[in-house]
Amino acid sequence: MSIFNLDILEQELTGAKKIAITGHIRPDGDCIGSCSALYQYLIECKKELNIEQVDVYLETFGQEYNILSGIDKIRHRFDYDDTYDVMITLDCSSLDRLGHSIRYFETAKRTICIDHHITNDNFADVNHVVADASSTCEVIYDLLVDSRITKEIAKSLYIGIVHDTGIFRHVSTSGKTMEIAASLIRKGIDFTKLIDETFTQKTYAQMQIMGRALMESVLYMDGKLIASSISLDTMKLYEVTHTDLDGIIDQLRTAKGTEVAMFIYETEEGDNKISLRSNGRVNVSEIARSFGGGGHVKAAGCSMEGTAIDAIAKIIPHIEAQLIN
Ligand code: 5GP
Ligand code: MN
Repeated sequence: MSIFNLDILEQELTGAKKIAITGHIRPDGDCIGSCSALYQYLIECKKELNIEQVDVYLETFGQEYNILSGIDKIRHRFDYDDTYDVMITLDCSSLDRLGHSIRYFETAKRTICIDHHITNDNFADVNHVVADASSTCEVIYDLLVDSRITKEIAKSLYIGIVHDTGIFRHVSTSGKTMEIAASLIRKGIDFTKLIDETFTQKTYAQMQIMGRALMESVLYMDGKLIASSISLDTMKLYEVTHTDLDGIIDQLRTAKGTEVAMFIYETEEGDNKISLRSNGRVNVSEIARSFGGGGHVKAAGCSMEGTAIDAIAKIIPHIEAQLIN
């Protein structure tokens, strides 16, 4: 009986003794969900595949994900001496998004990339990129045999789909996405709890900093662009880190009349992470790509040096150019 619904994956993983899994820097729900789901599945099928060791490498993330099984096994340090027969990257569109995991990618005998970003540049030996999938978790679900998906694996996959679709609201949500979600719900997962605890709930500090970002947001281009930024000093004031800023960009995007929302936070002095969201007419993945980033048509990001105002000034002409055409 097949273990995967993709022959090449079955071939690559059969007999691979040591396997590593990783996602992208600053991991989000889809990245964490897909890594934890595939990890659990490989452990389930360890004997049949003749696997000896599976390790997951991810940067640190919020405690809300402790609700998932096997999260405590994830390695958050990148100084282990291990080398791997196969390294699998999930939800990662380019090599520069691997962060410190690159070390294991470079020394692995074979590499596999599983992703759903339209900007993916096929950087691995085997690339399985489904650009119209809502999430990497949706791609992973399709690769696994449904009857072997446990309730715990279903929880991880569901979280990833929920996060990347903004709870089934984004346009990337398809009939198929809903069918997969239905299959996962039938495994008996407490989906209300999963959504509340990993997506909806905010700490008081997270709410305060979101409030501040919204209050200080500015409209540009006759209201077509809404932009806001948070500096390192402000994060310090509220005693938060960048992981506490999730959701701000999606809130900005709801401003009526805007075409694009832009959220900027300082990662170190003079360096910023930019998030872009489109309400329809603008392809923000193209804009992000022209600044060395990437993502999806309606949700993308990049990094930029300089001040927040510099970043806004650089982005505006790109939005204008698209709106004219
Ligand atoms: P977010 O704004 O939530 O960080 O990211 C939105 C989307 O854009 C995600 O799919 C994410 O993977 C992608 N993205 C964000 N920042 C970058 C970046 O710096 N480089 C690339 N290639 N993709 C990014
Ligand atoms: Mn994703």
